[in-house]
Amino acid sequence: MKWIRKWGIPLINWLFPHYCPVCGNRLPIEEQVMCKSCLNKMPRTRYATWIDNRMARQFWGKFPVERAAAWFFYSRESPYAYMIHLFKYSSRKQLAFDIGQLMAREMQQTNFFCGIDCIIPVPLHPKKQRQRGYNQSELLARGVAKAICLPVVCDAVERTLHTETQTHKSAQQRKENMQGAFQAKNNATQLAGKHVLLIDDVMTTSSTLTACADALRDVPDIKFSFLTVAVVDH
Ligand SMILES: [Zn+2]
Repeated sequence: MKWIRKWGIPLINWLFPHYCPVCGNRLPIEEQVMCKSCLNKMPRTRYATWIDNRMARQFWGKFPVERAAAWFFYSRESPYAYMIHLFKYSSRKQLAFDIGQLMAREMQQTNFFCGIDCIIPVPLHPKKQRQRGYNQSELLARGVAKAICLPVVCDAVERTLHTETQTHKSAQQRKENMQGAFQAKNNATQLAGKHVLLIDDVMTTSSTLTACADALRDVPDIKFSFLTVAVVDH
C-alpha cells in the first residue's frame, strides 16, 4: 500500500489541483487553504493580543464585553477581499470552514479564546439563507469550533428583519437599518452565565454584531466576545 501514499496523493493533487484563493496560484500539496506567500503577507490586525484595540472599543459600554478581534484589515481592492467574496457569494463553502479553522489555529497562540463557552454565528435572515444556500458565518464558526473544540449554538438567536444590502450605507444608516434586526429565541436561556463568541465574516461598522448581541443582552450573566475574519480600517 506504500505506493498509494507515494503516488496516490500527488496523483489526486494533479487531477484535482487546488488554487490559492488570494493570488490564484496553484497550491503545492503541503500548502492548504492559501499559499505561504499570501499567508505571510496578510495585513494582520494582531487585535487578538491587544485587549483595548479599536474594534473592541466600539462595543464597550453597550453590554458586558470581554474581547474583540479580526484576523486581517479589509480593503475592497485587496486580493484578500476576493477570498471573502469567494466564500460569501460563490458557494465556496469548504473555503469558509477552512478559513475559520486556520484563523482559530493561529489565534490559539494567544489567550483570545480563554474562558469562552460557545460560539454563535451571526444568523442570516431565512430568506437570504435560502437564496444563498448556506450561512457563511456558520461555516466560519464551525471551522473555528473544530480548531478550539467548542460547541456552535445556532438556535439561540434569529434574524427577523430582512435588510437590503448595507454596502453603500453610511455608519448611521447601517445602525438604524440593523436596530431590532435580531431576536432571541426561547433556547437563549441556555446561554445564562456563559461567555459567548459571536462570529461574522467582515466588520464594516459594529452595527450588525451590536444588534445581534443586543438581542441576547437580557440573558442573565451573559458575556460577549467578537471575532470576524476581517475588519474595515476606517
Ligand atoms: Zn497565494
